[in-house]
Amino acid sequence: MDDRSLVVLREVTKQYSPRFSPAISCLSITLNRGEILALLGPSGCGKTTTLRLIAGFDVPDEGVILLDGAPVAGNGFWVPPEARKIGMVFQDYALFPHLTLLENVAFGLHGKGKKEREARAMEVLKIVGMGGMAQRYPHELSGGQQQRVALARALAPGPVVILLDEPFSNLDADMRTDMRREVERILRESDMSAILVTHDQEEALSMADRVGVLNNGSLEQLAAPEVLYHTPATRFVADFVGEADFLPGEVQDGIVTEVGTFQDGSGLPKGAKVELMIRPDDVHFEPCEDGDGVIAGRRFRGSENRYALALPSGKRLRSSQSSDRVLARGTKVKVMVRPTHVVVFPL
Ligand code: ADP
Ligand code: MG
Repeated sequence: MDDRSLVVLREVTKQYSPRFSPAISCLSITLNRGEILALLGPSGCGKTTTLRLIAGFDVPDEGVILLDGAPVAGNGFWVPPEARKIGMVFQDYALFPHLTLLENVAFGLHGKGKKEREARAMEVLKIVGMGGMAQRYPHELSGGQQQRVALARALAPGPVVILLDEPFSNLDADMRTDMRREVERILRESDMSAILVTHDQEEALSMADRVGVLNNGSLEQLAAPEVLYHTPATRFVADFVGEADFLPGEVQDGIVTEVGTFQDGSGLPKGAKVELMIRPDDVHFEPCEDGDGVIAGRRFRGSENRYALALPSGKRLRSSQSSDRVLARGTKVKVMVRPTHVVVFPL
């Protein structure tokens, strides 16, 4: 651990019941100071459990958790949530309906006079752009506005880290993008370190400095968004982050597949059977009478046309094309695959 480390989980395991497999197993993650880290994974993979353990709402069965260099859980050691200096933003915002926004934000500020608490509450409400609505009640706000207040309440006591649990999932799709940008701006301008958990890859990739992909309670890969996308470490990450098709291949002098031979950096022995990952933006095609591929379908998505190309083996590849490139289904094509990185997994 170096002194950039703010939150450290070291081989943490949590099992709710001996009848079920652990919610998280042997999980090791580090959040650096000033960093926004996303934990990404499907429903039930252990995201909320991880946040609850960091916040102190649950106790790990094994492993150690350190906060700002000091142990807060593990080895029989235990610091209660209120002593951890952690701000939490929940999916449902969890604002008190009978309190004004100012009172909601001032609520968690213990050990200060009323004037002082209200001044601090007003200060953070202004930071999140809600200074003009301090006397309103939560039901008088839109979802996005409630989200801002929940963030203000988490920021008010001056935590060392903010944990956000699926914070945008209750917002309409058209608000979500703006709120992501807005929340990121507020966190960055306040120099706040944060862990964001989400099942939405676009959210994780666009907001976070690094993303940890969780599957079934285990960490598959923790890396910068671009690294996850271009060089996924596992088949699960390849599939979950971005879109991917997989073609069977064999290691020879390169990876031999039905769409060509690709440079091999896998280190696998000759003759090894592999799957080659292919992203839709790596697949190009030209109409060609004696081409091997056939256009099997096209889906218009506004900013692009997403083609499905059928190969002689029956396998299909998706291809991302410009929104004005329209070709008919059944057109014979020559398929060209140019991966930015050749990624293979052993079969
Ligand atoms: P996520 O937030 O990624 O959807 P959770 O951390 O909530 O996942 O849950 C991980 C696993 O632990 C799931 O299988 C879930 O059913 C189980 N789990 C979560 N909380 C409890 C609990 N309080 N008691 C028993 N099982 C739980
Ligand atoms: Mg959850």
